[in-house]
Parts: sequence; C-alpha cells; structure tokens
Amino acid sequence: MQDYKYLIVGGGMAAASAITGIREIDPAGSIGVLTAEAHPPYNRPPLSKWLWRGKPLSSIWRKANSATVTFHQGRTACALDPRSKQITDDQGVVYQFDKLLLATGSTPRRLPFGGDEIIYYRTLDDYERVRQLAARGGTLVVIGAGFIGSEMAAALAMNGTRVALVFPDDAIGSRLYPAHLAQAVTTLFRANGVDVVPRTRIIGCEPHGNRQTLIAQDVGSGRERTIAADGVIAGIGVDPNVDLARAAGLEVNDGIRVDASLRTSHPDIYAAGDAASIYNAALDAWRRVEHADNANNTGGYAGVAMAGRAVRYEYLPFFYSDLFEAGYEAVGEIDARLEMIEDWRIPDVEGTVTYLRDGRVRGALYWNVYGSVGAGRHAIGSVRDGRKVT
Ligand code: NAP
Repeated sequence: MQDYKYLIVGGGMAAASAITGIREIDPAGSIGVLTAEAHPPYNRPPLSKWLWRGKPLSSIWRKANSATVTFHQGRTACALDPRSKQITDDQGVVYQFDKLLLATGSTPRRLPFGGDEIIYYRTLDDYERVRQLAARGGTLVVIGAGFIGSEMAAALAMNGTRVALVFPDDAIGSRLYPAHLAQAVTTLFRANGVDVVPRTRIIGCEPHGNRQTLIAQDVGSGRERTIAADGVIAGIGVDPNVDLARAAGLEVNDGIRVDASLRTSHPDIYAAGDAASIYNAALDAWRRVEHADNANNTGGYAGVAMAGRAVRYEYLPFFYSDLFEAGYEAVGEIDARLEMIEDWRIPDVEGTVTYLRDGRVRGALYWNVYGSVGAGRHAIGSVRDGRKVT
C-alpha cells in the first residue's frame, strides 16, 4: 500500500497548481499523484494555440515534476473510501491519504459512431496525432465550433492544412457573441481559407483506409450529403469526471460541490478544476468552469488549503482565445441571450461587449483589447486577484 500525506487524483493543470500550493506551505510532506496520462503535467492551452504558432513543445511542461512528488502514471482511480481514506486504482493498488484532492477534470463527449477514427481533441497525444495527420496532407474535418473546434480550425489553416469546420449553429460563436460579431468571425475564418459549413450536423462516419466519409445533415431541411475527410477532429463539449466522488457519497450537483476552502462534503477531501462546482458570490451562482485560469486558481488554492492554511476562494476566473489575428479575453457569463452593451473602437475588430441580466453586469468580453479583465471583474462585483501560475 502507498501512503501519502497529500494524494491528488488527476495529473492536469489543477493538479500541478495544487502541488505548487502545497509546497508553499509544506516543503516536505509526501505528495502522490495518480494520473491516467503517460506524461507529467502540462499546460493545455498551447495544444490548440501556441504550439501551432511556432512555440516549442518543451514550453508546455509544468514545474510540478519535482523530485519530492511521486507520479503514478497510466493509472485510473476506481474507488474512493472516504471512511478509511483510501483510493484503489485500476490495478488494485491501494493508496492511503491524509488529504485528498480530486482534480479529475473532464472527458470529451463522443459521437455514437466513428469510434477511434474521430479524434476528440484534448491531450498531448491528440496533438501529436493531429500533427501527423496534418503532415500527411489532405483535408481535415473539424466537428463543432466551440473552443476546441474554432481554435483547431484556425490553427490548422494557419499551418497550411485544408480544413472544413462543420457545426449546427448559424455562425461561429453565435451563442457567445452579438450576431454581427459571430458573422464577422465566420467571415474571418473563410478569408483565412477555412471551409466553414454552418447549420450542419454530422450523423455518421464510415472509414475507408486512411480516409473517412462523413454523413452530413442540414439542420433545416434534413437533407443529407457526404463529406470526404483525411482525418476527423471533434470538439463537442466535455462532461466532468464526477463518478468517483458520487460513488463515494460526496455531494455532486453538476460538479463536485466544494466550499470556499475548496473542500468537498468530506473534511479531508478537496476538489478543483473542471470537475469542481463552487458558489460565486459576485454572480450569486454555483459555477463549474472549464478553463485554464480556473484550473490553476482552484488547484492552487486547494493545495494551500490542504496544507493547512485557511483560504477563501472568491476569484472569478477569466478565459481567452486566439483565432487567426483576432483574440479576446473574457470574464463572467458570456452568453448572447443576455442583454449586451457594445462599445467598439473599430466595429468587430476592437471593442468591448458587456453582458447584463436585470440591469446587473454578468460578464465582459474584450475583443482584441488586453489588460481589462480586472475592470470587468470589478464591474461584476468581484475584486479578488488570482494566483501567480508557475
Ligand atoms: P465547447 O466549447 O462546449 O463547444 C462544444 C460545441 O460543440 C458547442 O458549440 C456545441 O454546440 C457543439 N456540438 C455539440 N454537439 C455537437 C454535434 N453533435 N455536432 C456538432 N457540434 C456539436 O466544448 P469544446 O470546444 O469541445 O471544448 C472542450 C473543453 O475545453 C471546454 O470545456 C472548453 O471550455 C475547453 N477549452 C477552452 C479553451 C479556451 O478557454 N480558450 C480552448 C479550448 C478548450 P451546441 O451549443 O449547439 O450544442
């Protein structure tokens, strides 16, 4: 049996930040990390952004791979017994802990066809696979125009790969941005060579050697046609990994519920990252956030709390994206169903969109405007700073 003062389930950004947080307070306590990945922790944003803009692979690694941390790679935690404070992994190994962090992340949603022909883009291994596909030439089809789909279509096109972006909405980002901005983004993608295929759902995938034939259906008419692909990438959302927590009897509601100390309904078990659900006072809402800044901050705060220092997590994380020459930072609720107040210095190129409900600011989008997220956070009613990420 393995015995750790701090056991972390998951080896992503939240885990890496938690290790830093623990070490700020406790330089020597034993830390074990149980991770399904074959790699030490790395930053995920570069996989769909900077690695396609010339940054080297060596830039993605987190500093968490320190000599005082034991990584159990290629392992999945299968059972958590909160009473005996033990985790059992998929090979039957039992891990005892004093404090546990569930940084279990999320799993990409899959289509009910296509099997492993479709790459559900999330990990470093997925990045390597897409790099190989892109090097082979031909047309790659990206399904879904959310964060992954839009960033990957842009990244591939910028690297000279022929790419089609297929999605059910009318325009890229139409659920987030004002309609004219979503149209402008869609035009930007087309101008950069992406074959944008809106209002279309993929309903089947047939392999033919190295190629695939996708069955596409128009969401309006229901008419079907085929699209030939030399590789298929999907980004159709993720589901939080909460089964371990739920089976252990911890409170789960969408995510693993935690208090402002990042503590679950068990006093020695914490949760952070995509899988954690935290009440945010400024928004007066329980939130489960699937972005890097959230993983880093909840992870870091959880690590500090696990090591014994009182914390109060009231931070409102931001997120950002890069799409060709456009980019943005955003904070709070970015939802085109809210009232939107727009302030453009150059229409659709440089400006701010403020999102309101019942006259109260819920979110802010800074389009090609940088360094203003703090002001947006303030307008929403949150003034807490985030942690510095190492
Ligand atoms: P996402 O941003 O939630 O987008 C999923 C998209 O797929 C939605 O637009 C959804 O449309 C669409 N979709 C759902 N079912 C579909 C189907 N059958 N066919 C075609 N489209 C379908 O999720 P994601 O892009 O997969 O990203 C995964 C996670 O990584 C998210 O948590 C995201 O926040 C995170 N991520 C964040 C960043 C960033 O912060 N810049 C970058 C990359 C990834 P409907 O809304 O119409 O269902």
